[in-house]
Amino acid sequence: MTGIKCPHCRSSLALDRIGVHFQKFCPAMQTSSAREASVKKFNQLYTHMQSHGRGEMTIEELQVEADRIFLGR
Ligand SMILES: [Zn+2]
Repeated sequence: MTGIKCPHCRSSLALDRIGVHFQKFCPAMQTSSAREASVKKFNQLYTHMQSHGRGEMTIEELQVEADRIFLGR
């Protein structure tokens, strides 16, 4: 099972659980506006997840992109 760590709470997440984690389960998402912002960021991450699915990006590179998108690095 491949996955990445949540940029906010560092939970290990399978790739198919990341979206629902941000929507419902991430303890760092306390407000509805935070959740909405995360969903938009997740949409950005999703294009990178598709690249990973095509073998164009390693899981480590996907983690870097996730941290960059969500934490603004
Ligand atoms: Zn989280």
